[in-house]
Amino acid sequence: MSDQLQPVRGTRDLLGEDMARFARVVETARRVVALYGFSEWQTPIFEDTRVFSRTLGETSDVVTKEMYTFEDRGGDSITLRPEGTAGVCRALITNGLTQTLPQKVFYAGPMFRYERPQKGRYRQFHQIGVELLGPATPLADAEVIAMGWQILRELGIGDTVQLQVNTLGDAASRAAYREKLVGYFSQYTNELSADSKLRLQKNPLRILDSKDEGDKKLVAGAPQMQDSLTDEARAFFDAVQNNLTAFGVPFVLDPAIVRGLDYYNHTAFEFVTTALGAQGTVMAGGRYDGLVEQMGGPSVPGIGWGAGIERLSMLIAAPAAAHVPVAIIPMGAESEGRAIGILNLLRGQNIAAEIGYSGNVKKRLERANKSGAAFAVLVGEDVKLKNLASGEQADVAAEALPGLLRA
Ligand code: ATP
Ligand code: MG
Repeated sequence: MSDQLQPVRGTRDLLGEDMARFARVVETARRVVALYGFSEWQTPIFEDTRVFSRTLGETSDVVTKEMYTFEDRGGDSITLRPEGTAGVCRALITNGLTQTLPQKVFYAGPMFRYERPQKGRYRQFHQIGVELLGPATPLADAEVIAMGWQILRELGIGDTVQLQVNTLGDAASRAAYREKLVGYFSQYTNELSADSKLRLQKNPLRILDSKDEGDKKLVAGAPQMQDSLTDEARAFFDAVQNNLTAFGVPFVLDPAIVRGLDYYNHTAFEFVTTALGAQGTVMAGGRYDGLVEQMGGPSVPGIGWGAGIERLSMLIAAPAAAHVPVAIIPMGAESEGRAIGILNLLRGQNIAAEIGYSGNVKKRLERANKSGAAFAVLVGEDVKLKNLASGEQADVAAEALPGLLRA
């Protein structure tokens, strides 16, 4: 057995109840985003590496440590997408939609990151996500967050998550803040982790997102963004908060929310639960007004979020198991043709039915009972309909079955 093939570390098969949970998350999101006028896009699972390397930030964890990048047979550098936003923005540009705004995009699908696998953290994981491209108004930020909140509530986990909101300011706020951070962290260069020493040179804001314990202690005493905000950035953030309240979304302010990717400005937010240990962030996002331009398009502001389907799946109640309500049981090989006719009749009328493939009638009835079916149709010389709960049985005409079973 030692050479039995195993799934690659950090990947999982989805079947049975896991798959039902997964599907419930995606279907709930699809239904809710439609209420807000969003429609679904699918972009390729792999892209030119530059789609990510140019946009996510050269000092971000995702780009430095987590990307699945390889050279394909033609010698091009390809990356399995680690997140959804860059691909959607690339698609906005390649499909010539930058003048057809707003675009309200929903997506669902696999993402890939080379991480240390643990509960709620995989190498192939899945996200639902949304991007609202075009509007630069704080109304858009609040609406996108409210949509996420409605999805979480409809999944039944509204009470177990907390929305934490912060602002990263505009370019001027960030420049001023950056200067203060460099001043502060430069006093402690020797105590910073190796990663953060590099961040101090390239992107000091990134130090605030460090997972290193020593860095975290220094971060606790660091200057705060709020004190560097321009009047415009402060007014924008105030308006986001007022609109969130108007949408009825509860939130707390948390200056520690800086997000792991470089393209964010203004609003940054996370929905966090305490139920999943260190993997507590279930939905996270922010505003990224410079991203489309950075990718070679015109200036198109954007706001969005991504949510881990695995993490959401672990939090929701188990969906009820699905049963096929009708079991067709031929009374012998010679009745199979008639049984097939009845299967076609029912399925053609949108009634789910399955056939017992083998065994005597008693065996097949036992199996039908076990499967959770409500009715068995016994097909011999004549056709009998058996209510599996009550045991009642009656002769019926085959043509009458759709009407009887739909009731
Ligand atoms: P974390 O801090 O947990 O590493 P992140 O900031 O890297 O998260 P994002 O890039 O914001 O995560 O992705 C959005 C969401 O996708 C996360 O909030 C989480 O729910 C989910 N997610 C991210 N990475 C993974 C992973 N490796 N496995 C499962 N879910 C993940
Ligand atoms: Mg991460």
